Amino acid sequence: MTSFWARLRADSLGALDAALAHLAPAAALPALRRGLVQVDFTALLGVPEAADRVRAFAARRPDVLSTWVPQCHPGAPQYDTLGRFATPPDCTACVFYRGRACQGLGAERVPFGGLTATDAPPALQALPPERDLHALTAEDFTGSRPVCYWRPERAHIAAIGAAVRAAGGTLWDLGAGNGFLAALLARDEGLSVTAIDQLDTYPAPAGVARRVGDVRAVVSATDAARPAAVCISWPPGGDGFRDVVQRLRPAVLVLAYDAEGFCGRRRGHAEVEVDAGGARWFTHAADDFAGLRGLPRRACWSVTTHQDVVRGRSGGSGVLEIRSRAPLSLVVDHPLDPYPWEGSKTPR
Ligand code: SF4
Repeated sequence: MTSFWARLRADSLGALDAALAHLAPAAALPALRRGLVQVDFTALLGVPEAADRVRAFAARRPDVLSTWVPQCHPGAPQYDTLGRFATPPDCTACVFYRGRACQGLGAERVPFGGLTATDAPPALQALPPERDLHALTAEDFTGSRPVCYWRPERAHIAAIGAAVRAAGGTLWDLGAGNGFLAALLARDEGLSVTAIDQLDTYPAPAGVARRVGDVRAVVSATDAARPAAVCISWPPGGDGFRDVVQRLRPAVLVLAYDAEGFCGRRRGHAEVEVDAGGARWFTHAADDFAGLRGLPRRACWSVTTHQDVVRGRSGGSGVLEIRSRAPLSLVVDHPLDPYPWEGSKTPR
């Protein structure tokens, strides 16, 4: 076992201490590479010591353990400025939950399971200025710290470009975030790229069309115009947008994902539920990214990642795949100028 997702339930500080004590041996395993500690704060809401305990537990091994404290809980990093906008314990009505900025009190097995596929996110720009995410700037394309979950190199972009051009040249980037990857593909490969993301904080990069909204809602509203290719970087935990891929049936699928288990279930990734009574373990037999019928993997690279689930950690390990219906020729017959960040030791 090299990674786990632990879900803790406790109705008192004593029970929380006991649950954390049950989890401690697993968290101390030398071979552990990732541990996600999800605490159900429902019965502990408003008890600052609960947040302290959980954070102190994760701080034992800050390189591998990750957790979160709800925005409305005293002790959350932005509680003083953002807590007043929350509506605990009614998470499904909360602006942070509906905007997928807070996963709730920690009771859900499926992140954001209280939202339907067509729930529109709220206007996040209405929140205080300090909540704003920064938009793309020229520096993002020329500096040594690209703002991207995985660090694309020029050769990766060229290979994706060759694959997508062969299929027709149109690509939808699902969950595109700030549009950085989409912008590179449009600028350097001339692809017709649409960036789809629920965040409306970012402007559309030059040469890229942007659709703001929940990916599934946007895709179902645009049935008529299907892209030749789909790109997914860092699918949300567990589902990987597989249903969207099956609906769109692209000729080419570009996937980038965490190689260590956080953004989708994979072999060897165990889940554990812990409470004062003990621990129950679950392991998933299937790799969420395996078995995409009709889209065999044609090319695969190890890529450098930035994993914001583990605060401060970057330079992690990811995988970039190109899958396609037809065999691909990814040979690039012209020289490629490396991007400025290639060779940088500090991706963001
Ligand atoms: S989603 Fe729930 S836990 Fe998160 S801030 Fe809102 S009310 Fe609090």
